[in-house]
Amino acid sequence: MPRPKAIVTGGAGFLGSHLCERLLREGYSVLCLDDFSTGSPANVAHLPEHGPFRLIRADVTDFVHVPGEVDAVLHFASPASPLDYLRMPIETLKVGSIGTLHTLGLAKEKRARFLLASTSEAYGDPQVHPQPETYWGHVNPVGPRGVYDEAKRFAEAMTMAYRRAEGVDTAIVRIFNTHGPRMRRGDGRAVPTFIRQALAGEPLTVAGEGGQTRSIQYVDDLVEGCLRLLGSTLAGPVNIGNPQEISIIELAATVQRLVGSDEPVRHIPRPEDDPTVRRPDITLATRELGWVPRIDLIEGLRRTVDWFRAEADRCAAATDGSALTRAV
Ligand code: UDP
Repeated sequence: MPRPKAIVTGGAGFLGSHLCERLLREGYSVLCLDDFSTGSPANVAHLPEHGPFRLIRADVTDFVHVPGEVDAVLHFASPASPLDYLRMPIETLKVGSIGTLHTLGLAKEKRARFLLASTSEAYGDPQVHPQPETYWGHVNPVGPRGVYDEAKRFAEAMTMAYRRAEGVDTAIVRIFNTHGPRMRRGDGRAVPTFIRQALAGEPLTVAGEGGQTRSIQYVDDLVEGCLRLLGSTLAGPVNIGNPQEISIIELAATVQRLVGSDEPVRHIPRPEDDPTVRRPDITLATRELGWVPRIDLIEGLRRTVDWFRAEADRCAAATDGSALTRAV
């Protein structure tokens, strides 16, 4: 039996790199496309050891051509942290719209199953809590976050249009806040920012009073949910997230406790349109995919903290090494 082949756009990013790794483990050959605007070749440098893996620098808003058969197209390319999409608003809109058009066209040509990485941001600042997939959301299209929220909502509409009009076998996953190894230290999101600050003995920057909530999941759970959805015939959208909800001020305190830091927090202004609450209703994923998160909040945070600590040690060792080389 030849190996099935998967294409992962954004495969050198945080989530993409974990997905590529898991797909290789499942016996796929993987072609990773990434423009490195937020991802990095270093995230996937270890993957050729795990199986047939190719990395190509490509911007999917340009035409995408891939020779040969393809069984699955996973469209994960997009800036995803507020800091990144506010810095790259037009690129974010382009990859969600034109990039989704191109990758759907590719899936159609190859008769491949298509998986769109959508987001809990599709619900905006929700007025229904927790959020089931049937909730249409509460998004400000002209606010700063609109570039991400609307790009993903457009991507969902385009995906459903290709399913209905072109018969493409599509699926949509709505991903809730996720953390784990290979998040960038400076990506601006709460988890990596708090861990970096706590490890450096700096005050943790809590936006507003910190009463706003998020429900954060560990990356392995997310990858498991994506693989189950890919392997099913479900169209979705399907929420994949850990319903353990926590306020941001509690999250800061938890990270401090896990790292062993006791700096006071520093309150900073709340970003515009920052959602007040967020928690997935995962009834659908549980019923249709048999999926539930396995890694609880504290265990997940412990793993992410351990990875950041090890990274900080590696960086320090590399810096010492180069200082030594210069001295010699
Ligand atoms: N946040 C914070 N301090 C930071 C970064 C983020 O208090 O240094 C807050 C942010 O305002 C939001 C929550 O943490 O209320 C989650 O933000 P994140 O950027 O991680 O993800 P989002 O869910 O907003 O996309």
